[in-house]
Amino acid sequence: MLERRDRLQDELFVAGSLRELIPADHILVRVDKVLDLSWLRAAVSGCYDLEQGRPGIDPEAAVRLMLAGLLLGIVHDRKLLREAQVNLAIRWFCGYALHERVPDHSSLTRVRRRWGAERFLRIFERTVLQCVAAGLVKGELVHLDATLIRADVSWESLVKVHVEAVAEANADGKSEDDDPPSAGGPSTGGKAKRGKLKKISRTDPEARMATSHRKQRLEPSYKQLTAVDGAAGVVVDVDVVSGETHEGGALPEQLDRVEQRTGLPVATATGDKAHASAGNYAALEARGTRAVIPPQRLRPAPMPLERFKYDAAHDLVRCPQGRKLRRAGRYAKGRFHRARPADCRACALKARCVPKSMRARSVQIPDGYPALLRARRRHRRRLPEDRAAAASHRARVEGVHGEAKAQHGLRRAMRRGLWNVAIQVYLTAAVINLKRLARALLRLLLRPGALPRRLEALLDRLARTCERTLARPAVPATALR
Ligand code: SF4
Repeated sequence: MLERRDRLQDELFVAGSLRELIPADHILVRVDKVLDLSWLRAAVSGCYDLEQGRPGIDPEAAVRLMLAGLLLGIVHDRKLLREAQVNLAIRWFCGYALHERVPDHSSLTRVRRRWGAERFLRIFERTVLQCVAAGLVKGELVHLDATLIRADVSWESLVKVHVEAVAEANADGKSEDDDPPSAGGPSTGGKAKRGKLKKISRTDPEARMATSHRKQRLEPSYKQLTAVDGAAGVVVDVDVVSGETHEGGALPEQLDRVEQRTGLPVATATGDKAHASAGNYAALEARGTRAVIPPQRLRPAPMPLERFKYDAAHDLVRCPQGRKLRRAGRYAKGRFHRARPADCRACALKARCVPKSMRARSVQIPDGYPALLRARRRHRRRLPEDRAAAASHRARVEGVHGEAKAQHGLRRAMRRGLWNVAIQVYLTAAVINLKRLARALLRLLLRPGALPRRLEALLDRLARTCERTLARPAVPATALR
């Protein structure tokens, strides 16, 4: 016998809640169980004039719409609102009944403008606190990494800049090539300025040309700095900077924010070669955090720096011939040590050691160099705990980046401007954390015999976290300073 469907469905009202029409394992149903936005209305009420004007969109509904879009991989507002018209799960998740009109897509744009990135950062922070309360964050191992996000601009919008500035500096018509080569080392003056042509986008000037690999072309990009806790892959910090910013310099600040946010000291931090600076090793040592960061490979110079012995007690360097190299000034991140010209002149290694343009060898010793040497020694020992931490780095933090890009649309920025990209990044990180929470809750539910007491304890901890968060100041977003 075959069933026959009546396609003329003239019922207008549904008996019962929309929830009953949505499968229990739907991602929005699962996330709804751990999502708490009851604090939001009070937090954003200062952005509205409560006396006059048209009533704005319900803050919780607006955020739920944005989160639903990211959870379902629909990142464009217009597309999301069109989908919300016909998608029961989105309607139920955001509180819109079947007969109600969903808001216009421009409402979400206005919400973002009105609230600013700070309030979206608080949404992300609350998910971190929920994860801490649920025991998903331990602070023992934190992985740090960065990823590029393609800016939402066209290739046609890119223009070359600095041409005028360089032309002005070279107004006398003299160029660098006009100068005769100097006889004794680098010239110090008298040269015309040679400018580097940089491309920026006219439509999004805050994006910068960057690439993640030297064999790939430069693209207008933003950079996301991410910290992921090693226990359950919870994102504990995100920040956004322009694409050309080097991520290494942000490491101490990132760890400060992680500790401040989670209330847990970071025992071990992993990173990649971009974090392998002497300053970072020294900063991690000073705060008592073990660094699992592979040191940069030394350049294969004829006489590399590692052949020079650094004496930290007397702050001097000895060359392979045992001669002293004394301090000879500073550069931005360290100091120069220079040999005596008389020593080098009489040395048999001079041809290999001293560049032709110089009379004596000079080396750069970055600040925190002893910590870098200790890190190198430790890296050579390849301790099992270091290898385990390094092995989980890729799965955890790069896994989060892959998840954000493949499932939540972070491959490309959806809007222009640093603050807009920051909002997208904060919400995407919040979505990933909510998924971790929902999965943890599901595991609790599936654990036989432990359900009532454990679930009660978890919900209790979540509620207490929410209360604590309301009384807590937000961590400032350095990207927005
Ligand atoms: S050239 Fe100068 S710095 Fe190099 S090994 Fe000889 S004495 Fe030392």
